[in-house]
This record gives sequence, C-alpha cells and structure tokens, in this order.
Amino acid sequence: MAGTAVTPLINLAQDNKLKNWAGNFTYSASPLLSVSSVEQARTLIKQYDRMKVLGTRHCFNNIADSSHHLVSLLPMNKVIALDKHKHTVTVESGIRYGELAVFLEDNGYALHNLASLPHISVAGGCITGTHGSGVNNGNLSSAVMALELITAAGETVSFSREKNSEQFAGAVINLGGLGVLTKMTLAVQPTYQVRQYVYENLPMQQLEHDFEKIMSAGYSVSLFTLWRNKNIDEIWIKSRVGDGGAFGQQREFFGATAAIKNVHPIPGMPAENCTPQMGVAGPWHERLPHFKMGFTPSGGNELQTEYFVPRENSYAAIKAVEQLHDKVSPHLLISEIRCIAADDLWMSPCYRQPCTTIHFTWKPDWPAVSKLLPLIEEQLAPFHARPHWAKLFTVPHQRLQSLYKRMADFQGLLRHYDPKGKFRNDYLDKVIFGA
Ligand SMILES: Cc1cc2nc3c(=O)[nH]c(=O)nc-3n(C[C@H](O)[C@H](O)[C@H](O)COP(=O)(O)OP(=O)(O)OC[C@H]3O[C@@H](n4cnc5c(N)ncnc54)[C@H](O)[C@@H]3O)c2cc1C
Repeated sequence: MAGTAVTPLINLAQDNKLKNWAGNFTYSASPLLSVSSVEQARTLIKQYDRMKVLGTRHCFNNIADSSHHLVSLLPMNKVIALDKHKHTVTVESGIRYGELAVFLEDNGYALHNLASLPHISVAGGCITGTHGSGVNNGNLSSAVMALELITAAGETVSFSREKNSEQFAGAVINLGGLGVLTKMTLAVQPTYQVRQYVYENLPMQQLEHDFEKIMSAGYSVSLFTLWRNKNIDEIWIKSRVGDGGAFGQQREFFGATAAIKNVHPIPGMPAENCTPQMGVAGPWHERLPHFKMGFTPSGGNELQTEYFVPRENSYAAIKAVEQLHDKVSPHLLISEIRCIAADDLWMSPCYRQPCTTIHFTWKPDWPAVSKLLPLIEEQLAPFHARPHWAKLFTVPHQRLQSLYKRMADFQGLLRHYDPKGKFRNDYLDKVIFGA
C-alpha cells in the first residue's frame, strides 16, 4: 500500500480469512483494508479494478464479498451535522445505528425506527433495505434524504430527495453496487419515549380476523413463533408514550397473557441481552431494537432468512408457512412476523406496497436449511414473496425480475455509474444481472 496511509484491520483479518458476524460466510479476499477519509477511499477506488466495502458484516450471504479487495469505512463514523431546521442529520457512512442514536438522544432527536439490533452500520443497513416493525413505519432506508458516494471513476456523486429524486429512489437500496458510500443524510424527529410490553401465547387463528388490529396495537409490533401448536409464543408491543392511541396495559391481549418478567425472543436465551420490557418507559433507542448495544443480539450462532409479502396476503402467507411446521420447527431458533409501510425506493421489497415480513432465525445447519428454503419459497410464491436482500434465499434472478418493476432501471443505474463492474461480485452478477 505504498503511497497511502491505508492500513489493514489486523485485529479482524490477520492471515486468516475474515468471516461475517454469524460465522456462516467466509469472505474471499484478505486483508480487510481500513480507510479513514474520503481521499483514502478515492485512492483505493482508483487503484483497484474490483473491490467491495464491508460494513459491520451482519449480512448472511455473499452480498458484500469480493475475491479481489475488501475495504472498511467503519473508522469514518462521525456525525457531520444536525440540521434543526430541516430535521436531518448528516453522518459519515461507517457510523453504527447505536452510535448515532446516542448522539441524537443527547441532542433531543430520534430516528423513526430501528432494526432488532443497533450494532449495524447505517450504510450497510440502508443499502440492503433493513427494517424494524410498525404498520406506519417505512424501512430504515426510507429515512434517507440524501447520500454521497464515490463512483468507479473516482468521482463524488450526490443523490437527494430534493435535487434528483428519480435517481435517488434507485440509489438508496443499491445492494453495494453503485459505489463507495461516504456520507448520508437521514430524517430525524424530536426524541420520544417508548414502553415495551410482552404478551405470551396467542392462538394463531386470532390473526385471521384481527391481524391488522394486533399489528396496529403499538408503534412497532413483533410476533414470535416456533410454528408449534398453531401458537404465537410472544407478542412484543412497542408503544410511543404520548401517542394518541398509546397502548394501555392489560392482563390479556386477544387471548394472550401479559408476561410477568422480561423475556428473550429465543426460548432459553438470557433476557439481559434484551431491551427492557414490562411497560417501563425509556428512550426510543433503548426500546425499538429488541437487543441492547454491547450485548450479543439474537442467538449468535445462527442463520437468517426473511420474506416480505404484500400486507393483504399476511394471514394467507402465515397459514401457508404454518403448513410446513413439522419441517420448519426442528431447525428453528425463532420466527418473527413484522409489518412495514410502503416506500418509493426501487429495490425495496416494500416499493409502493405495505408489507408483512416472515423471518426465520435458524439453527446453524446449512445443509438442512438449504433444503427448506425452496420449500418455503414455493409455499410463499402465490403471495409474491420477496426475500430480504441480506439474508439467505434461493429465489432466482428471473423470479426477482418479475417481482421488481424497477429492476431494469436499477440495472441501468449500476451500469451507468459502474460500467466496468468495479463493485460487482458474484451476488450482483447472479441475483441482479442473472448471470
Ligand atoms: C443478529 C442480527 C439481527 C438482524 N436484524 C435485522 C432486522 O431487524 N431487520 C433487518 O432488516 N435486518 C436485520 N438483520 C440483517 C442486517 O441488518 C443487514 O444484514 C444489514 O445490511 C447489515 O449491515 P452491515 O453494516 O453489517 O452491512 P454488511 O453486511 O457489512 O454489508 C451490507 C452491504 O452494504 C455494503 N456496504 C456497507 N457499507 C458500505 C459503504 N460505505 N459503501 C458501499 N457499500 C457498503 C456491502 O458491500 C454489502 O453489500 C440482522 C442481522 C443480524 C446478524
């Protein structure tokens, strides 16, 4: 690396190959080079024919892989500006949600939502359409107001809702194919408090007529199930304090009973890793994620899959998965059902349609899980299910092409800004370009 101050992230890579967070995927290139300025990133872009950026490595598939060069922008994690008139915050792209949340809270501001964990980078989360829950909450990418990236040619390009809204809608969920993202502007709002309530044992059949009511009971609602005995094991209701329709604590909720202590979504895992429940009010960033920063989120040793179905198909899709319960349950740590509002981002699974997601946290047995995914995908196909870009799936390009109306436009956008495929990898070649 003569001539640049770029250094390998020795603690992560050394001579060994780097793995993703879950440990199920080994990246092809090493070492992981760390950059701490836009100019360092530009130098590498000009130097390399092929490269990819890694965020916090929480994806479960090869979306971030490169067999050539891997670069990290995690040292670029500063807040650049909080604009109190426009209600936006501008950050360097390596910042994690957990870091940004503390800054915002200290300044009296908040984001509209968070994923189940605060550990992930803002860039990695938004690039893949990462989401939380809430019938009226768009995914995390929907909070992006502007972004700046360095293209394959080494040029800085900006996209924003205000200036070039059409291209912007294609650029936000870009699956890492557009360039190196260096700066992002997100919508913020005054800080708020949230109370979290958990209920146990909801008969699944209750969802047939009351799905919307149950999922609308709080600002963000999650259902957890192991698909056993047609039962929803836990309902997590996150209610905004002061909201007109704030959830009022009750002993029973549609036949489910209030939990008497804090719980973890995965049976047998410590509740200590989870954000406080039992209706105790706390700041938004300490309630909206299920898992606390500084603690292991979820199970740790696991695989994940998730499918989005249009909201009107929610119960039919849940019933379809339930029919596979004897095959699915033995391999599960837990399943989660959430709701997400529609948005206008081309590659969002919620493009112009509100969705329900059915998520699977699997035991780390890829041979078994790889056999189940086509079964689930076939079962969910009548409901136009789209896979989470960052998790494990087998849906082929042709099917995705038919599900994403703006796929051709997205391909055109990638070709325009990256004509020689500097930021392409096997994932983009197969999933997006159908190679
Ligand atoms: C325990 C756990 C819980 C999860 N919970 C949720 C959840 O609640 N909801 C949900 O939707 N998902 C969830 N996920 C999935 C996770 O949010 C996504 O995988 C997210 O993309 C991870 O972000 P990251 O920073 O780790 O990105 P990485 O996995 O490192 O990378 C993701 C993509 O972004 C690209 N990238 C990253 N930074 C840049 C940059 N600066 N410039 C250009 N490209 C870049 C990478 O090349 C890659 O294409 C969970 C994952 C785990 C492990």
